Amino acid sequence: MTNKIDARYTSAVPRGGTKHCCYGLCRSDSRYSDREYMQGVGWIPFPKPRKDLDRCLRWIAACGRADFGVDNIRRWTYICTKHFVGGNGPSEDHPDPIQACNATSSPIQRRPKESKMDQKRKLEAAEALVSLTEDS
Ligand SMILES: [Zn+2]
Repeated sequence: MTNKIDARYTSAVPRGGTKHCCYGLCRSDSRYSDREYMQGVGWIPFPKPRKDLDRCLRWIAACGRADFGVDNIRRWTYICTKHFVGGNGPSEDHPDPIQACNATSSPIQRRPKESKMDQKRKLEAAEALVSLTEDS
């Protein structure tokens, strides 16, 4: 055993292995580690559902991808360090990735607006009620 370095938190690319980030719309790719946007980016192996399902599901949720689930987790599934508070991967305070904003799947809550007709009708009904009680 000569390789004593824990490669998990480095951006070193093992021979022949390419890492893609599975987070949201992130395009981090270990093949482009010399690109400017990849400087200082490390790779975190995705928690495996068999080992740590809770964590795995939390990370999947954080990735915010509709096409990405437990079935997509492989031994070589990685997320890059960009998506953690501080940008250095999981920490004690922030063990999970930051929630991705997913504009397409977040339901837009629209409050049904009352039309003026409805308001008028309600007012009339209220007035009618008042006059009824006044009459009696
Ligand atoms: Zn990423």
